[in-house]
Amino acid sequence: MTNSKHDQHKLNTKLVHAGRKPEEYYGIVNPPLVKASTILYPSLEAYQDPQTRYRYGRMGTPLSNAFEEAMAELEGGYKAISSGSGLSAISAALLSFLKSGDHLLMVDNAYGPVRDFCNHALRRFGVDVEFYDPALGSGIEAHVKPSTAVIYMESPGSGTFEVQDVPAICAVAMRKSVVTIVDNTWAAGLLFRPIEHGADIVIQSATKYVGGHADVNLGVIVIGKEAHFQPVRQTTWDMGICASGDDLYGGLRGLRSLTLRMKQAGEQGMEMARWLQKRPEVERVLYPALPEHPTHAIWKRDFSGANGLMSIVLREGYGPEAVSRFANALNLFPIGSSWGGYESLLQPQSPQKFRKHPAWEHKGAVLRLQIGLEDTDDLKADLDQAFSRL
Ligand SMILES: *Cc1c(COP(=O)(O)O)cnc(C)c1O
Repeated sequence: MTNSKHDQHKLNTKLVHAGRKPEEYYGIVNPPLVKASTILYPSLEAYQDPQTRYRYGRMGTPLSNAFEEAMAELEGGYKAISSGSGLSAISAALLSFLKSGDHLLMVDNAYGPVRDFCNHALRRFGVDVEFYDPALGSGIEAHVKPSTAVIYMESPGSGTFEVQDVPAICAVAMRKSVVTIVDNTWAAGLLFRPIEHGADIVIQSATKYVGGHADVNLGVIVIGKEAHFQPVRQTTWDMGICASGDDLYGGLRGLRSLTLRMKQAGEQGMEMARWLQKRPEVERVLYPALPEHPTHAIWKRDFSGANGLMSIVLREGYGPEAVSRFANALNLFPIGSSWGGYESLLQPQSPQKFRKHPAWEHKGAVLRLQIGLEDTDDLKADLDQAFSRL
């Protein structure tokens, strides 16, 4: 539940105060790192009292509560539930609202392992999974069936960064009583707040910008309204979903400097995107803040800024060996998964392998770049010497 004392404050102020209760910890600024499995009861009556606040580490601690309060406040939701990873937050959110025979509309540019979860577990349990074109706005209506239970969005989508018309899709879903789930990891709750645009459930991989230091595995499910809370609470308890104390602590610490890091990431991201756009080796830069990006208008309408994540599509004709020479020559962009940390990274993408709605049209290699907090002159010089190896 959000902290009413700060309801009137702006987001940056909320982020400083969210989830903190120094008065409960001898004035200590940060909620202490709590590591707990067993929690003791003073009496049998207390054990049997349904009102007892904390029962077992897996089911919640003062630290998970602090992180959840902060995330609910950041996303403007009713309550939040933390989990050990972004992916477990997503699978638990989907399982909370789907049953055998239901139809799921899953966006075609969703994070790869989410696609895998749909194709493996959900299909096995009899969910009718349909991948849809991220360019669909209110046109999603034509895909909604009487059995449609959930519309899942991720905006901008993984690796290719198409921005979805979330408000238009949520408007259709609301009319049809379909639950909407949005993966808001790219915006980190700061650049875009889907619940304000009609979304029911928002999930984030707090592993990325919220954690921000490449050392946390953490996820969160933010529930927009009270009616949707209990199904998610029950599912996460049934599945044993929980986050470790260390990771919750890392997530809360990351939140305090999130605005600062996002501002810098957005500035450096834009500078690098413009620079990359001018390179003769690059066919296009997939970064929604660029005016040339196909869904720039929606991004501009709904988002308050950008981050440091983008992909480049190399010109056709650079074979796998050339691309390897380029990637291996980089010194400041080591190859690695994840993003949102302080350090730059490179990761190859393969949308041509799985994108079907619509099929991926570009022939050139797609490489995702996470722009970290290094000096952009150094990043450009490093890319420059590696491009010469192509
Ligand atoms: C990384 C990522 C996830 C999964 O998060 P984990 O914390 O790694 O499980 C989900 N969605 C998006 C968009 C991601 O980038």
